[in-house]
Amino acid sequence: MTTSVARPAAVPSAEVPVPSRLSAHIDAVRVADLIAQLLVELGEDPAREGLIGTPDRVAAWWNAFLSSDGTASATRFTESQLSSQLVIVGGMSVWSLCEHHLLPMNLQVTAGYVPVGEVLGLSKFGRIARHFAGRLQVQERFTRQVAEYLTSVIGREDVAVAVRGVHLCMSMRGVRMKEASTTTVHTGGRFGTDTVLSQQFLTVAAGHWGTL
Ligand SMILES: [Zn+2]
Repeated sequence: MTTSVARPAAVPSAEVPVPSRLSAHIDAVRVADLIAQLLVELGEDPAREGLIGTPDRVAAWWNAFLSSDGTASATRFTESQLSSQLVIVGGMSVWSLCEHHLLPMNLQVTAGYVPVGEVLGLSKFGRIARHFAGRLQVQERFTRQVAEYLTSVIGREDVAVAVRGVHLCMSMRGVRMKEASTTTVHTGGRFGTDTVLSQQFLTVAAGHWGTL
């Protein structure tokens, strides 16, 4: 894995507004109380030494997860490529929660677009991915939301987003396939009609995943 970042030689465009969050804050006291009740239902004693403070910590975690900065997620960039045709930003790794099981899923995101004049600031991609990861999700909807938001920001349909997800609900329960991953791809504009362009994008995306 390379940690160097080849930045496109373009000035980041104007500040990109990220849409407001569904749930900015939770009632932490109420959530902590509910967690304590859950522990009781699970046969635990919330007053025992190891669990003192657990309800508060869990409530604080939910608050952080649902907050706009996505502090529970990590984002990093390993590479970006810029040609006259295609910009690809990959190596973005965010954590979300599967809405079917409330278990974590790790989403490796690669986004591509065809710029006209301006190039979107690299850090924006990470913020956008974190934003849509910080809620109860399914991978397919996450992929579409990131793609649609990028499309609106860039103002063009030529956007592709590929996501490789590893879901703990698959790793821990059910089929227990530790290495199983799910890949989702959303293509728009030229990525849907130009097979060379889409193949270039998918090749680079697969390369990113191979190094993670
Ligand atoms: Zn699940």
